Amino acid sequence: MTDSPRAPQAPRTKTVSNAYLHRLQRRHFLLFDILPIVGTLAALAFLFVHPLGLTELVLFFSLWLLTGLGITVGYHRLFTHRTFKAKQSVITALVILGSMAGQGGVVSWVALHRRHHECSDRDGDPHSPNLYGSDVKGRLRGLMHSHFLWMRRHEYPNVVHYAPDLIKNRALVRVARQYYYWVALGLVLPAVIGGLVYQSWTGVISGLLWGGLVRMFVLEHIVWAINSFLHMFGTRPYASRENSRNGGVFALVTLGESWHNNHHAFPESASFGLDWYRLDPGYWLIRLLAACGLVWDVCLPSDERKAAKRIPDNTCDTSTSGVPA
Ligand SMILES: [Zn+2]
Ligand SMILES: [Zn+2]
Repeated sequence: MTDSPRAPQAPRTKTVSNAYLHRLQRRHFLLFDILPIVGTLAALAFLFVHPLGLTELVLFFSLWLLTGLGITVGYHRLFTHRTFKAKQSVITALVILGSMAGQGGVVSWVALHRRHHECSDRDGDPHSPNLYGSDVKGRLRGLMHSHFLWMRRHEYPNVVHYAPDLIKNRALVRVARQYYYWVALGLVLPAVIGGLVYQSWTGVISGLLWGGLVRMFVLEHIVWAINSFLHMFGTRPYASRENSRNGGVFALVTLGESWHNNHHAFPESASFGLDWYRLDPGYWLIRLLAACGLVWDVCLPSDERKAAKRIPDNTCDTSTSGVPA
């Protein structure tokens, strides 16, 4: 018996682009990116009908924190970069909380973000602010694109190439597939609580607006600012091949994500702050879960690795220079 020659396999395409996907992207953009802006304006107008109370503040803050942790600890540090291992119950909770943020299903989010790391600030990066020229107009265009506009229509990274580990996890895919229901839960939950607390329809609307759409709006712009402003402005303590920056003053509000240069230099690290005195609430949660035995194998870079990549202080700049060669 002789072996028949195999036909040469075509190389797997890294990105997909077709009218159907672009239609889905446009729909998602309108529903979850434009609607929260409209909802935030409506919430401000609704203050004339129903003043802001403690209920709205608690709903806004608690859901912002939970969904924000779902994004940074779940979508980003666990699912994209595998910086620690977790029990299935933690995986499921983080998929649900991350989905409730309305920033896309976990498999797409991970594929897009892995492509961002692969092509950072170069052709193929889905949201670089640094590819439109260095004059004022080019920089403004870059900021608009990277912060927001890229989501209207973009090349879709092939999930078979970029997220094979996720699509092999059946339990994860089962939960992640219900993405639209989880987003709806994030809207219905504060509406119901608002209605129960105030015992009125205005309570329902106020809960929906502040715990749902305003919360979504605020978290989205915080996450998007990492893609846009922190690839242009801020400090650069570590050598990395793209133009990522740290914005330490925003560490608390971004739940640690604003140590973006640290993150690009050490994407395998569960801690983005890297040092104990740099605020990193996402890492605090990972430490807490590890102390409870729910996560383990938490990865951190060695002191030698950090020292090797450290840019000497006198050359650590805060300028807005373009992409390093
Ligand atoms: Zn990352
Ligand atoms: Zn980045």
